[in-house]
Amino acid sequence: MNNIWVKSILPLVLISSCVSLFFCDNIVKAISMFFVATFLQIITYNIYRQILQYFALKYENERLSELSKQGVEVVCPCARGMKHLIPIQLDADNSYTCLDCNKNVNVKLEVNTYLETVPIDTDQKISELIKKLK
Ligand SMILES: [Zn+2]
Repeated sequence: MNNIWVKSILPLVLISSCVSLFFCDNIVKAISMFFVATFLQIITYNIYRQILQYFALKYENERLSELSKQGVEVVCPCARGMKHLIPIQLDADNSYTCLDCNKNVNVKLEVNTYLETVPIDTDQKISELIKKLK
């Protein structure tokens, strides 16, 4: 509660007061300028916050996109078995700290090879069988 007063409301009131001081010859004008300055600060802050959220979301999406290209989902070997999405580097040792058990976990990479398979075209095989039967 105390933090929000120092960070947000106190500067808002101070800036609005400074703006209203320019119109101190007329109290009605000063009070109205105080509220106009307060309103403009709130609008400006909300626009600024929306722009920051837009760029934060954009960079977070780019980060997750890049991480999905070079990241892998692993399960911590501890008893809790928490899943982590960690970045993988092929030219370095990979490790991470489990967020659940707070232990460092090394990652061992294994590469396997498999023969590429071609799906069987069943329609063509059936038509060939029918031709052979005739
Ligand atoms: Zn763990």
